[in-house]
Amino acid sequence: MPYPTFSDAQRALKNDETSCEALVSSFLDRIEQRNDELNAFIELDEDGARNHARYLDSQRARGHERPLAGLIVGVKDVLCMRGRKVTCGSKMLSCFESLIDATALKRLRDAGAIFIGKTNCDEFAMGSSNETSHAGPVRNPVDPTRVPGGSSGGSAAAVADGMAHAALGTDTGGSIRQPAAFCGVVGLKPTYGRVSRYGLVAYASSFDTIGPMAHSVEDVARLLEAMAGPDPNDATSADVPVPSYTDALTNSVEGLRIGLPKEYFAEGLDEEIQEMVYAKVRRLKAAGATVQEVSLPHTDYGIAAYYILTTAEASSNLARYDGVRYGHRADVKETRDTLQAEHQQLKKSRDTAQANGNAERAKALQEALDAQESLLNRLYADTRTEGFGTEVKRRIMLGTYVLSSGYYDAYYEKAQRVRTLIRNDFDQAFEAVDVLITPATPTPAFELGSKVDDPLAMYLNDVYTVTANLAGVPGLVVPAGTHSSGLPVGMQLLGRHFDEATLLQVGDVAMNLS
Ligand code: GLN
Repeated sequence: MPYPTFSDAQRALKNDETSCEALVSSFLDRIEQRNDELNAFIELDEDGARNHARYLDSQRARGHERPLAGLIVGVKDVLCMRGRKVTCGSKMLSCFESLIDATALKRLRDAGAIFIGKTNCDEFAMGSSNETSHAGPVRNPVDPTRVPGGSSGGSAAAVADGMAHAALGTDTGGSIRQPAAFCGVVGLKPTYGRVSRYGLVAYASSFDTIGPMAHSVEDVARLLEAMAGPDPNDATSADVPVPSYTDALTNSVEGLRIGLPKEYFAEGLDEEIQEMVYAKVRRLKAAGATVQEVSLPHTDYGIAAYYILTTAEASSNLARYDGVRYGHRADVKETRDTLQAEHQQLKKSRDTAQANGNAERAKALQEALDAQESLLNRLYADTRTEGFGTEVKRRIMLGTYVLSSGYYDAYYEKAQRVRTLIRNDFDQAFEAVDVLITPATPTPAFELGSKVDDPLAMYLNDVYTVTANLAGVPGLVVPAGTHSSGLPVGMQLLGRHFDEATLLQVGDVAMNLS
């Protein structure tokens, strides 16, 4: 069962050669054989998947067909599924159970998708290698000494290794596209606002997107079609009509204008990757597309702007994990409520002592108050010290710094301006061309452990992907061939806001041309 696509499964279902329940069993078998080595799944939902499959089979027997019935999906563990744990790959949430279903999941389930389990990821989706997860690293199925990419590394590995037809990832700066490239699968980061973020645990809210990963562009198109569209629970979800993305797969690129941004084919790019992307572009040209060089002049500032803005947003989003409402709580005996009640009492007594002119008693009470305040602070500090890993702490500190008074103008505000310039670069390029083609990553999958102690080297790996999130535009990664190292190489297509259809159209043709 190397590359099971949903389209294959659907044909088999139609011909009564299989059932949804049988599909679930075969994927669970595969997971059982392979997950110990790869660590792609953090948790399985065997009962939930089997029950839903049985229900779908009974519906099918009565003639009720659903568009995605029998689609077996892995779900990145930053997405909420009611009644299941959502750990975000963090000790902080290792015991946290979700009370809601993410809108994307609800829509997919209604369309017949079956969720088989939660996939591993970098802690709070911060990382490019899936090595920051509290659940341990994921291995690349193509070469287990290599990383699968991150942060949606478990999702990419699960699909690449045939443990699910498809998986959901999230992409804040490349977390769907880079692991798709490293593992040799298709991954789509939709336009910001295309898919509701309701039920996605926030990393950087103005960047976060949810998208599908699968073996074929067609499967990805079908998942997007089911998930996309406005949602009253997410004010940033856009009220833009959802086209039929499968209808967009016309098998033709005749007359399409492709742009090659020169800044993406510069120093630091592996030569073989460059050649493989060019080779695909030559074939697209032979198939009727036109090709021209374009410029996105502010590309160089992308990484800096991205890591300033996302850490700022993360420091604010992650402030909620203080041991009081969510997840892990340090073992400080006094709970918040008791502390607060005592605090009020002490304050009252101190004020009374002051009013009565009893200075000595007021002083003693003030000392008790100070001591007690530090106890509450200790609860916060110990909880966060114990609950977060090194990379998350690094980003909270960076983010707090760039937002602090005196530095806000120099870093945060400046980065916001760069964000606008980068967006303008894209707007301008899309006046001349319909789609941009770039490499997905500067190198193929690197070795486990090789960058984990060098954050800057890790961040630089995102050089081709962060710009799409800064601008909010959609990005699709499709396999472009195999590197001489034996590792997969990905090619990235970037498009206009809400024009996923063109990306899917071109990506599909590019994949089928060899
Ligand atoms: N690697 C990038 C980061 O560490 C992207 C992460 C993501 O897209 N979630 O922030």
